[in-house]
Amino acid sequence: MKKSHIDELITIFGKEQVLTEPEDMIAYSYDASHAETEPEAVVFATTTEQISELMKLAYREHIPVTPRGQGSGLSGGSVPLKKGIVLSMDKMQNVIEFDPANRLITVEAGLTTSDIDPIAAEANLFYPPDPGSVTFSTIGGNVAENAGGLRGLKYGVTKDYVKMMKVVLPQGDIVTLGNKCVKHVAGFNMEGIFVGSEGLLGIMTEVTLALLPIPQHHESALAIFDSLDDAAQSVSDIIAAGVTPSTMEFMDNITINAIQNFQDCGLPRDAEAVLLIETDGEENSAVNEMAKVEEAVSKNNVRKFARARDMTERDLLFAGRRIALNALANVKPNLILEDATVMRSKLPEMVSGIVNIATKYDLQVGIFGHAGDGNLHPTFLIDMKDKDEMGRTEKAVTELFQLAIDLDGTISGEHGIGVEKKPFLENQIGAEGIRLLQNIKKTFDPENLLNPGKMFDMV
Ligand SMILES: Cc1cc2nc3c(=O)[nH]c(=O)nc-3n(C[C@H](O)[C@H](O)[C@H](O)COP(=O)(O)OP(=O)(O)OC[C@H]3O[C@@H](n4cnc5c(N)ncnc54)[C@H](O)[C@@H]3O)c2cc1C
Repeated sequence: MKKSHIDELITIFGKEQVLTEPEDMIAYSYDASHAETEPEAVVFATTTEQISELMKLAYREHIPVTPRGQGSGLSGGSVPLKKGIVLSMDKMQNVIEFDPANRLITVEAGLTTSDIDPIAAEANLFYPPDPGSVTFSTIGGNVAENAGGLRGLKYGVTKDYVKMMKVVLPQGDIVTLGNKCVKHVAGFNMEGIFVGSEGLLGIMTEVTLALLPIPQHHESALAIFDSLDDAAQSVSDIIAAGVTPSTMEFMDNITINAIQNFQDCGLPRDAEAVLLIETDGEENSAVNEMAKVEEAVSKNNVRKFARARDMTERDLLFAGRRIALNALANVKPNLILEDATVMRSKLPEMVSGIVNIATKYDLQVGIFGHAGDGNLHPTFLIDMKDKDEMGRTEKAVTELFQLAIDLDGTISGEHGIGVEKKPFLENQIGAEGIRLLQNIKKTFDPENLLNPGKMFDMV
């Protein structure tokens, strides 16, 4: 990067907030996926105005900029594929306004998601979207990826809670989108287009989120199965029984054992699969719903239905689910984690399809995920240095995506497209769908300078 550009960055952000030495920037060249590219500079913003100045500089001098939350993304979204500048939102962590009367909170985009709950809890409120990465990912990253979580089945995902946002557009304009009212239809749903935009259309600097009252009571249980099919069938049967658990997480035998090897969370090593289920709400209704859950799993040969006796037992089970990915990462040198998603009624077909694909290509796969939303994380455990195994994995992943599409599902339920799933997007949305995305991108970012190279190619 030219010295004059670095000098200008220092003028905007201050000397301490600009990195240009390669060894200082290593941590900003990758995320939790397999993509990796070193940036030419990293800047740490503390105000919206600084980001506006940055984008004016980027546009004048034709420099790519890649926004970054905490780099926990699983599709390569915050990797600076075309080099240029990484814009870290890490230092924008202020809570701007907590408005319990309207059940709203306005925060800077770099705030860690789980930091909202202690503030909201003061007024008996909570922020429902809780990705497995809730203790380290940022609100900006969650909005940009439309993150889901363990409570998605009952409470929905990030998009269901975004009311309003301040955004710096690629050419430096600052706009406020959305509204704090419960209802708002003045103009297009512009805040909506930024949810899931993966840092391609603008940089969110402030976000206003809706909160909900904390449920009075939780009932938690672990349903233990000797067959994957029975566990998968139970998911659609529970929903068909008219129950909407707040959590319904699936873990197969490989995942269970990886977790137990990592930390003893009390999971049964010999089970083929478990469902971690929670109902919540008024005490009576949570208890009644859990009784219906037990009835539904009993019809599917559940081996044991173990209710958590207290919060310690419940928290341990949830901790087990949250460390699933880290635990699987310990089994082999590398893993390829996918998030293909289907309708819940198609889960049994999806689970058996994944097992068949893994068998066909002689691969080890751990399956876990938010089964209640039909969102599984088949995780291929591999050694990337083994070229033959890598080749088989690539074929298996391609078949997995096709299976999801054939079952009317989607290639990504929550991790986004980024770099990792870019080659597969056209299969799902077609050439016209890609053209529409390209045209929207051109409207916001005619020079393709904000997070270029992601999701789709520009023509
Ligand atoms: C162990 C583990 C568990 C996970 N569990 C889940 C899960 O349950 N559900 C789920 O959905 N995801 C999960 N993830 C994936 C990841 O945590 C989420 O995608 C998260 O939303 C990324 O947030 P981040 O702050 O790390 O963003 P980054 O990874 O830094 O960025 C993600 C994308 O957002 C863009 N971006 C970041 N901030 C902004 C901003 N302010 N304005 C515009 N664009 C921006 C970036 O350019 C990039 O494209 C998990 C990841 C890990 C490692």
